[in-house]
Amino acid sequence: MCLIMASPHHKCRMRCSPGSVLNLLRSGRMRFCSRRGKSRLPLWLRKIWAYMRLLVQSLCFNTLTDSDVVFDSIFEPVFWTVDYVTRWFGLVFVCLVVILTSSILVIAYMVLLPLVLNTYSPAWIAWHICYGHWNLIMIAFHYYKAAKTSPGYPPTEKNDRPFVSVCKKCIMPKPARTHHCGICNRCILKMDHHCPWLNNCVGHFNHRYFFSFCLFMTLGCVYCSISGRNLFLDAYSALERFKHLDLEKPGIPVTGMGLLIGLLPSGQTNFHTPAPSYTFKDRMIHKSIIYMWVLTSTVGVALGALTVWHAVLISRGETSIDRHINKKERRRLAAWGKVYRNPFNYGKLNNWKVFLGVEKRSHWVTRVLLPSGHPPYGDGLTWDIFPVRKDLIPV
Ligand SMILES: [Zn+2]
Ligand SMILES: [Zn+2]
Repeated sequence: MCLIMASPHHKCRMRCSPGSVLNLLRSGRMRFCSRRGKSRLPLWLRKIWAYMRLLVQSLCFNTLTDSDVVFDSIFEPVFWTVDYVTRWFGLVFVCLVVILTSSILVIAYMVLLPLVLNTYSPAWIAWHICYGHWNLIMIAFHYYKAAKTSPGYPPTEKNDRPFVSVCKKCIMPKPARTHHCGICNRCILKMDHHCPWLNNCVGHFNHRYFFSFCLFMTLGCVYCSISGRNLFLDAYSALERFKHLDLEKPGIPVTGMGLLIGLLPSGQTNFHTPAPSYTFKDRMIHKSIIYMWVLTSTVGVALGALTVWHAVLISRGETSIDRHINKKERRRLAAWGKVYRNPFNYGKLNNWKVFLGVEKRSHWVTRVLLPSGHPPYGDGLTWDIFPVRKDLIPV
């Protein structure tokens, strides 16, 4: 005798013998029970269970499994948490940049500018006003553009563009220099890194804005800390001096000197003079100068180091990610006795021209020293259109 059974889930038919039917029923009942038991669990717990089962199965039955895959899979929750936190904190970091920069601006306009106008010569006043405002405009323009410009994404529709690999996360072809950003959760053209201070990825279309922002912010910080150095020292010593006077209120004892020069009435060894007035306004001015100097010199040193590092990478025609890949390749080929050559390196000066978009001499002023929204060379998908010969960019 033969029975035809319909599986409730797969809707397929099976032919079975009576003995095996009993076994199937038994196992079916057991599975049914266990399914009913599982369905009582909350949905989120069932999802985690399914994910863990898939994880273990993909690790056990995948022929491509190696130590990297195992490492990635085990640390996936950690990466996910870090990405999630960075994504969430992106907005907080942007607010922090805006608030800190604005606080320095308020101090510069309310405390420093009146001092400069009252004490400096007209030539110095003109220099401070011109340089300060130019630097401020460059910082604001490049920060806005770096945060708002899309770094560039590979096309999602079918195309015949060359690609070097396939993204495991997006399941999409990846052109050369394109990498997947876990925080943005998509592939980025010529990806450099994800910048939480911009809440944006740094890629092909905003790399120049990012670097210019770092450069002009560093210049601004160095300018503030150098020109505010004497003010900082004065403010610091005044604050220290008046801290001691506060402890000795209501006045300071004067001894010896007055008697020696015969100015003070005889028989009086000391007396109290009223403490010099140190108003709340004075204290606030001194404290704000100290705050400004400490903040600008700290940021100047840290951001300066980052800017120098990026300048070195740009001179080599590398992004931060390219550097890791090229280092690996260099080592790999060195073991074979070969020398690796970075295919995106067009020579130091040409790298800078390509990066900054300088095509003629005047562009050094109009495109580098003034705010400029010109797009970068190329589309970020192919990299063989750039001038390798020097004469193609006449500067
Ligand atoms: Zn991707
Ligand atoms: Zn990103």
